[in-house]
Amino acid sequence: MSDYDFDLFVIGGGSGGVRCARIAAGHGARVGIAEDTYWGGTCVNVGCVPKKIMVQASEYGQLSRDSHGFGWSGPAPQHDWSVLIAHKTEEIDRLNGVYRRMLGDSGVKLFDAHASFVDAHTLDVGGTRVTAERIVIATGGVPAVDADVEGAELGIVSDAAFYLPALPQRILMVGGGYIGVEFAGIFAGLGASVDVVYRAELPLRGFDQDLRERLATGMEETGVRLHPGETVTKVEAVGDARRVTLSSGKQIETDLVFFATGRVPRTDKLGLERAGVVLDRWGSIMVDAENQTNQPHVFAIGDVCNKLNLTPVALAEGHHLADRLFGRGKPRDWSFDPVATAVFSNPGLATVGPTEAEAAARAPVDIYTSSFTPMRLVMAKRPRKTFMKLIVDQASQRVIGAHMLGDDVAEMMQGIAVAITAGATKQDFDRTIGIHPTGAEEFVTMRSRTRVSGERIAAE
Ligand code: FAD
Repeated sequence: MSDYDFDLFVIGGGSGGVRCARIAAGHGARVGIAEDTYWGGTCVNVGCVPKKIMVQASEYGQLSRDSHGFGWSGPAPQHDWSVLIAHKTEEIDRLNGVYRRMLGDSGVKLFDAHASFVDAHTLDVGGTRVTAERIVIATGGVPAVDADVEGAELGIVSDAAFYLPALPQRILMVGGGYIGVEFAGIFAGLGASVDVVYRAELPLRGFDQDLRERLATGMEETGVRLHPGETVTKVEAVGDARRVTLSSGKQIETDLVFFATGRVPRTDKLGLERAGVVLDRWGSIMVDAENQTNQPHVFAIGDVCNKLNLTPVALAEGHHLADRLFGRGKPRDWSFDPVATAVFSNPGLATVGPTEAEAAARAPVDIYTSSFTPMRLVMAKRPRKTFMKLIVDQASQRVIGAHMLGDDVAEMMQGIAVAITAGATKQDFDRTIGIHPTGAEEFVTMRSRTRVSGERIAAE
């Protein structure tokens, strides 16, 4: 046992920090953890969980309209925003309690306080000095707002969107990243009139081109107005409303301006310089493949490293690190490449592995696609297409990527991710018997190649 107060101290009680602390304590380490805002961090409080609840809320209006095709009738249901927010907050409070209890039960000492470095092994935790042999920084990130936008303070960021007192009638989203398109779908689904302004030609930079194009079309079909190739230059108050000026000079009047313009690692007020921990040029904590910083006893996990900013990645990094530092056996093996992800937009999309362009730049690939109207939407007379794509390495015939847009895609993609991680070939997909009648069975029935590397055949 060391002379330090703790074998491990974790700064930040979010996804990564809580997992790391709990697993380390399970291995017998003396562990402390500090959280200065809310236990469970971004995901539980102002991220994945409340977001998904709101996505689900936004789907019922359309489902109710679709039900007419199946013979249902009656007055259109009305939505009460205050009920949604109250129930959502009740669930978040419950989860906060679960996180706190889980940590306490595993023997971790909890500090409801801000933590910062005093020196390499000493932390100030809400005015109390504690020492630790090893320290993990798991402080996550915060929403960023472009300081160059005049009047930006008149808008909100995602944290506040979960606590709006009422649903604004008109909303202008700034940003075509995943948070921007997800909230556009939420607000439009709940009945607001939504504009989305973004710099690129298509939303979701970094995703497969086919998905990006189909997402833009699909969003417009739901009534969302897209403004590609634009930035916001000015926001002005006009009574309770906001007048937004775009880079083209176009002006839009709205009730709420929502900046979804990215997130930055939370490293301020941490006193990193007193521990000699260095940042990269983007302000993220620099770590090696084992999450070690330039100081051998200081580690960083999750969004503060700004690599793959996803909850399951933060969890895996925290778990792996705790196993590696304190576990007796071999640490559990995780695969960080590829990592599947979903965007809960309307239409939704999910993806695993490289985009077609990335894959084709590395080696020759075969592309298989399928595009069809799901049975439910045929009945609803809302012929919105679901789209699927498999990317197959030509030489080995291994499936290296899958991309999908439509309904229930996030639920489907997890299984495909297992197959890809396990190294399944196209032949393995082909010999798998489908589940009928589902959309998912299309993944195992795509027999004819749509195109080879980079060659576009309009087969869909
Ligand atoms: P966090 O969860 O942010 O936790 C960091 C914690 O540290 C915070 O609680 C903070 O208060 C605390 N802290 C910071 N500094 C200090 C300090 N000095 N002292 C004490 N405490 C401190 N990911 C997905 O996988 N799926 C999704 O659908 C998804 N949706 C999202 C939607 C939104 C709107 C947002 C914003 C994020 C979403 N994410 C999603 C991303 C996901 O929330 C993050 O990747 C994840 O929370 C990162 O975990 P973390 O432990 O690194 O940081």
